Amino acid sequence: MTKITLSGVNKSFGANFPVIRGVDLTIDDGEFCVFLGPSGCGKSTLLRMVAGLETAYTGQIQIGDRVVDKVEPADREVAMVFQNYALYPHMTVYDNMAFGLRQAKTAKDEIERRVKEAARILQIEPLLDRMPKALSGGQRQRVAIGRAIVRQPKVFLFDEPLSNLDAALRVHMRSEIATLHRNFPAASMIYVTHDQTEAMALADKIVLLHAGKDMLKHGSIAQVGKPLDLYHRPRNLFVAGFLGSPTMNFLEASFVAQEPAGARVVLKGGEEIVVPVDGSALASGAPVTLGVRPEHLAPVAAPGAQTLTRKVSAVEHFGEYSFVYLDGGTPAPLIAKVPGDGGVKAGDSATYQAPADCCHLFDADGLALNH
Ligand code: ATP
Repeated sequence: MTKITLSGVNKSFGANFPVIRGVDLTIDDGEFCVFLGPSGCGKSTLLRMVAGLETAYTGQIQIGDRVVDKVEPADREVAMVFQNYALYPHMTVYDNMAFGLRQAKTAKDEIERRVKEAARILQIEPLLDRMPKALSGGQRQRVAIGRAIVRQPKVFLFDEPLSNLDAALRVHMRSEIATLHRNFPAASMIYVTHDQTEAMALADKIVLLHAGKDMLKHGSIAQVGKPLDLYHRPRNLFVAGFLGSPTMNFLEASFVAQEPAGARVVLKGGEEIVVPVDGSALASGAPVTLGVRPEHLAPVAAPGAQTLTRKVSAVEHFGEYSFVYLDGGTPAPLIAKVPGDGGVKAGDSATYQAPADCCHLFDADGLALNH
């Protein structure tokens, strides 16, 4: 049993600085769960609480069927991999990996068996006699992961393990971590990152934590779900604006009326759009925000129903696709991600249409209206 349950967890640093608010969360047996959010939202703190490295909190944390709030980190059957690798500089790779097992008085031949097996899995067998300073960043991170593997933990905890690697190596190590998850299907994994691509690629479940202007929500869960659920069905403006690159376009609008096909809204530019959601609780004229992802805006020849016409302020070409920047987004310019060269240039007027079911509508509190 490696299910992890957090119930009503709150944590403050000092009396007036809440960093984690009311977190209720279950991570199932063998699940790969990613804590995602902007810098400072509290994701590392939450991970360290599961590890036992942060105490002094209210609520309860359970690993398997054991409440661990008072259990020492070494006795939680978790292994943590840190961003800065945290290798002992004066020990060889072998000794770094064996260290925890020696402390736990594991038999010598069992230590050797486990270290060699982990080294084989991570393809670092030729490095076992090297010192950490003679390793590349990616090799160091493999050793750090190896040190976690040899402990045969029930739970792997990763705190931004790839942040110190260059972009290409990050992509490579990401796929190695996915392989690690497949090799240890019984172990649950929690992985902290602020990189949405890593989260989307690795997670069975994403926990997106709030941070930002609204201090009352800081450190609370904005949404939990499968990566594509968060992408296609964001519950609020924060989630909608965090996932996706470039991020979702937001347009100020007013609610007109609920129709059989959905909620009719009018944009600042005067265009009317029907979004297939239930807006019947809204008053006529209520302010709403229309959300459309850049990749869902397709060029059309002429204005018509469900279209948007704006002046092009700039175009960026990337070969396979282009970003067309349009006047009139809130607060940033609108972006359409279109195939090829986009077919327009700065100064042109261009018209785009999004499939109705790719349009999102948010009320004045930033909550998504249901599709
Ligand atoms: P990042 O992606 O930048 O690492 P994070 O989401 O992991 O951010 P945390 O490291 O959990 O965020 O920190 C959450 C907040 O708590 C931050 O504002 C941070 O400055 C603060 N904080 C973290 N540790 C301490 C501490 N020991 N004492 C006081 N404040 C702290």
